[in-house]
Amino acid sequence: MTVISIPDDSLFGVDNLPYGVFSTAGTDPRVGVRVGDHVVDLAKALGDDVFAQPTLNAFMAQGRPRWDAVRARIALLVTGEITDDAVHSVADVTLHLPIAVADYVDFYASENHATNLGRLFRPDAEALMPNWKHLPVGYHGRSSTVVVSGTDITRPSGQRKAPADAAPTFGPSVRLDIEAEMGFIVGVGSPMGSRISPDEFADHCFGAVILNDWSARDIQAWEYVPLGPNLGKSFATSISPWVVPLAALEAARVDTPTQDPTPLPYLQGDEKWGLAIDLAVEWNGHVVSRPPYAQMYWSPAQMLAHTTVNGAATRTGDLFGSGTISGPDKDQRGAFIELTWGGAEPVAVGDEKRTFVEDGDEIAISATAPGPNGTRIGFGEVRARILPA
Ligand code: MN
Repeated sequence: MTVISIPDDSLFGVDNLPYGVFSTAGTDPRVGVRVGDHVVDLAKALGDDVFAQPTLNAFMAQGRPRWDAVRARIALLVTGEITDDAVHSVADVTLHLPIAVADYVDFYASENHATNLGRLFRPDAEALMPNWKHLPVGYHGRSSTVVVSGTDITRPSGQRKAPADAAPTFGPSVRLDIEAEMGFIVGVGSPMGSRISPDEFADHCFGAVILNDWSARDIQAWEYVPLGPNLGKSFATSISPWVVPLAALEAARVDTPTQDPTPLPYLQGDEKWGLAIDLAVEWNGHVVSRPPYAQMYWSPAQMLAHTTVNGAATRTGDLFGSGTISGPDKDQRGAFIELTWGGAEPVAVGDEKRTFVEDGDEIAISATAPGPNGTRIGFGEVRARILPA
């Protein structure tokens, strides 16, 4: 038997307990929970086949009472003795995409980001569109190219046309960018014709990951009017491997910024679902930005309520992104197009200057949040390297 030692300052203590899918050499992917610097094989430790599967979906579909019961059981389990063959060093495992992604929708919930992008993409118009403060704006993304941290990203090619060009050309994107976001995962869906109110969020949302919405700004700028982003974003979306349960984020819950005008009733609730999650964006090992999730105008509970208000169905494994997280300060901007003001103001990345992402660059986004009693919990990171087209 083994007793897992958890360092006092660990971001993966018993108040976190994020779920992931892992394998060891020669074994099939299965569900584990991270504790300190270890991964506990839940099928072995709990003797429950719902965890002997290559995604979290079957467990997520069991619902909130079951999520709470399993979480309580794991908290007891990992503070006692565990059978040796259920415990692995995190350094010895391969982490896989934790969920089978059903639908993927990405929102646009940061007022700072939407304002900055409006100024950059539409310099002669109002920065915020008239609908922006009335509904969480989103577009439907591509679930089949959601990949786990550590997956290399090939630079996309496509049509680009700068305003001064007479005609579009085809080739590799020359304005490849990131969007630092949080991703929220639906555990229990909702049938067509029903709605999820903001106060029912915790019965449906299983947990959260860090998400990087890779964006080819030149392809996006030429294609996005009037139906929104498509190939400029559909080539890849990266997520972190550990799904932090919503229950671990209790101490991180805060009010969203004041919403003025007051949203329509279906977007109102009594529960607060702003989240004091702090992100950090590393470019080739240098921190270039620290986006604050607490500044997000729309909460994830409002995003899910909006998604279903027309009767659209949701399913286990649905993933929705928050939209780029940008704070009011320049070093809080979660996309390089904002950080470098459309490429006009290069930023220092170590000894080099950068505007957009170059081949061979490596981007890592990490995040932490308050836990109970002054502790911190971690989301880990989402990391990827760019390969040439
Ligand atoms: Mn995005």
